[in-house]
Amino acid sequence: MQQPDSVQLPKIEDFYDLSYESGEIHLRGVKGRAFILPTKAWATLRMLLSPKFKDEVIPFMSHMGYAVGISFVEQTTKLEGKPKKLLRILLSIARSSGWGNFSIEGDVEYGSELTVIARNCSFCHNESSTEEAVCHFLVGFVNGLVDYLFRKPHSATETRCGGMGGETCEIKIMELRPATGGKTPANDNRE
Ligand SMILES: [Zn+2]
Repeated sequence: MQQPDSVQLPKIEDFYDLSYESGEIHLRGVKGRAFILPTKAWATLRMLLSPKFKDEVIPFMSHMGYAVGISFVEQTTKLEGKPKKLLRILLSIARSSGWGNFSIEGDVEYGSELTVIARNCSFCHNESSTEEAVCHFLVGFVNGLVDYLFRKPHSATETRCGGMGGETCEIKIMELRPATGGKTPANDNRE
């Protein structure tokens, strides 16, 4: 019988090809070029933008994430399958991109209510004492992902953040029903 520790885990070259001469990294699964950003650079970016944009920093980071979320879905449109399967693939891409160990719970068939659990999240890496959740980019990202995947607007909120202590970030996603009326955050993001 095979021991659990003898299981072959994926290696970085299963996902990427590095062409050192031209300075390019290529994604294997979805094709296309990628680049690496150190989590330290991300933390600096987050910290320097905060005083500069004040209250606007949250929607700004969230919009950025939303756009990246949409582009992630666009990259998988060649792949056949229901949202449930695509969602699993997308979270695995996030994982192989070094974003953290992501999983999703809830209504993965129709996307009415979902919870994304991000263990070891890189967006709040080395942060443990903030007063508020800091993974606004990630929140926007999963919002864009589920909106585009299920073709319905959702709201997304980080209810637990590793930046405030602990090792897990938790993002609650709710489908926005048309009956609620008014401007939805998802529509807001598309402006
Ligand atoms: Zn977080």
